[in-house]
Amino acid sequence: MVSGDDEPGGKALLRTLAVGGKNYKDVGSHPRCVFIPAVMNVKGLLIDLDGTLYTGNVPIEGARKTLACLKDAGIPYRYVTNTTRQSRREIVARLDDMGFPVLEELVFTPATATNIKMRGHSCYPLVSETLFEDLGGLQFTSMSPEFVLVGDLGEDFTYVRLDAAFRQLMSGAELVALQKNRYWKKEDGLSLDAGPFVAALEYASGQVATVIGKPEPPFFRAALADLGLSAWEVAMVGDDARADVAGAQKAGLLGVQVKTGKYRVGIETPGAEPDLVLNSIAGLPEALGMQAGDKG
Ligand SMILES: [Mg+2]
Repeated sequence: MVSGDDEPGGKALLRTLAVGGKNYKDVGSHPRCVFIPAVMNVKGLLIDLDGTLYTGNVPIEGARKTLACLKDAGIPYRYVTNTTRQSRREIVARLDDMGFPVLEELVFTPATATNIKMRGHSCYPLVSETLFEDLGGLQFTSMSPEFVLVGDLGEDFTYVRLDAAFRQLMSGAELVALQKNRYWKKEDGLSLDAGPFVAALEYASGQVATVIGKPEPPFFRAALADLGLSAWEVAMVGDDARADVAGAQKAGLLGVQVKTGKYRVGIETPGAEPDLVLNSIAGLPEALGMQAGDKG
């Protein structure tokens, strides 16, 4: 169930549409798409990136058309990602290369949120060096840091690096995780994300990490504030049942599960029923009361 400052009527309408409410006009061969205000019930969207818009460097089929429809319909959106292997600048370049409409200010990442939240504080970084440009407000140090900051290091999560971070924790630093995702979908299969390594540091140090990115409500609220919309007016679309769907619902948004990326049948988060399930983001325009043409 949606909690917080939600409006139950909005969810009911979305469900009706999801089960086949075909009460919008036939737009025939219109070259792009038509927005039918009568059946629109969300005013904005938060959209996950990896596994939702693309896998690796390959766009999900229909994803670019969906984004074109949202642009045509004037529906505001923000990209909300837990990606910590790339800087926001690199994410923007990657989206642009794949043909997605993007401006840097549309992209919300755990690193950019951390730079605001922890500005001026000292930390020992266990993050990719490519993220340093997004963390310019923090002071990196190995001399009595206030925090240990963990992002996804992939193959660079070595024993030596984890052990050094562990020693900082045992010397008084607090554990902060940019995100705690369990796994993600690479081109060749599912792979470990930062979460298992955060859990290892939690286990060894006895601390519980403060998590910055999804599914934490403040992260969603920052994107909502930027949209200028209330939680009940916005849906989050993503492939991660826990971080995207359940997290958004906890913050009061609608949660839309796409069956791409890391989605697997039967791995839904217990107790977290999505408000809407789509085979992919290609189905979003119809669910929102738009009908995509065969171009764009
Ligand atoms: Mg994802």
